[in-house]
Amino acid sequence: MIRRAGLMAGLLLASQWSWATECESGKVHITDDFAGGNIASCAVKSEYDFVVGVAPENTPINPSPWYAMALSVAEPGKVTISLEYQFGKHRYIPKVSKIGDVKPVYLQAEQVVVNEDGSQAVIHLSLEQGEYTLSAQPLVTNEVYQSWRNQLQQSNPGLIPHVVAHSVENRPIRLLESRATEGKQVVLLLGRAHPPEVTGAFAMQSFLLRLNGATALAKRFRERFSLLMLPNLNPDGVEHGYWRHNMNGVDLNRDWGPFTQPETRGSHAFIHNYLKDKQLVAMLDFHSTQRNVLYVQKQDQPSLLPEFAEQWLQAMQHANIPLDLVLAPGHNPTSPTSKTWFYSQYQVPAITYEMADTAAEGLHETAEIAADTFMQQLLSRLDKS
Ligand SMILES: [Zn+2]
Repeated sequence: MIRRAGLMAGLLLASQWSWATECESGKVHITDDFAGGNIASCAVKSEYDFVVGVAPENTPINPSPWYAMALSVAEPGKVTISLEYQFGKHRYIPKVSKIGDVKPVYLQAEQVVVNEDGSQAVIHLSLEQGEYTLSAQPLVTNEVYQSWRNQLQQSNPGLIPHVVAHSVENRPIRLLESRATEGKQVVLLLGRAHPPEVTGAFAMQSFLLRLNGATALAKRFRERFSLLMLPNLNPDGVEHGYWRHNMNGVDLNRDWGPFTQPETRGSHAFIHNYLKDKQLVAMLDFHSTQRNVLYVQKQDQPSLLPEFAEQWLQAMQHANIPLDLVLAPGHNPTSPTSKTWFYSQYQVPAITYEMADTAAEGLHETAEIAADTFMQQLLSRLDKS
């Protein structure tokens, strides 16, 4: 009954929110009808002047006000887009990509005028004729994950692909396994519960490439530890440009324990079954927030690897990570996050790896150093003597 009710709610949400939102002035056409696109409304004020509404899929919700629209410019001109936030306030520096270009351009402060309470941001663009996207963060679509999986499999041809679940809209939840040749210890890596958190996604891909790389360290690490890598827990949210939730309007990083949603329920079932005759030794879940921070256990919590996070961060700092990164210890047993779940079930380091929304240049190097020091720490603390 409950599952069925959930499914019905999902279908209702899907039909409500998959309508394209668009407007057309004769000079400029705006639409959110593409992967990751999402605006709540679009109104034409004049040929080059638009008001675009930004609203979440449902509330209550944490304020990650995602927006992404495609602009088709028929004649060059100065385009003004007023983002009107119907919930939350302006947070992300707008990015513009000419379609076909690899890297988006981050708009300068003078191009974005934010009002006092953050409920409105007016964006000024000077655009040539052509097709563009304007988005809260770079677009990391489900298609991008496919190319990232290919990268990983090229780097480590031994990877075993699994489909561990299907989303509410029936998209596959994919997991890559690297199987150790010695021992039964396992490291779990999760990502993209929250669609706008793409700096966490970039960090995760760099981290995974390092773990699956050709260095002696990575090869030794993969002999000793099996890896379960699930980089995209919320493909529906990614597809629809959601702020945070899945198609049933549920935060998947508050569903580890309840397991009311197909994405988390199926992932949990696979992981739980996999670990029946093995031992989890660490879990990382990649996210983004306002700063670079590792959410970790408190030092007095019993652990297979006491003070792991402290020693890991120290090693990263010795290796000169370019980003400022801090630890935030805490434990809230009533909040059903992946961190709470995997710590409570297995008493291992269960860490939320959070990158700042604005992390850009130092993000990849930090992730690579984080991966190398992570591997070194686990090998030195758990290697068979
Ligand atoms: Zn998050």
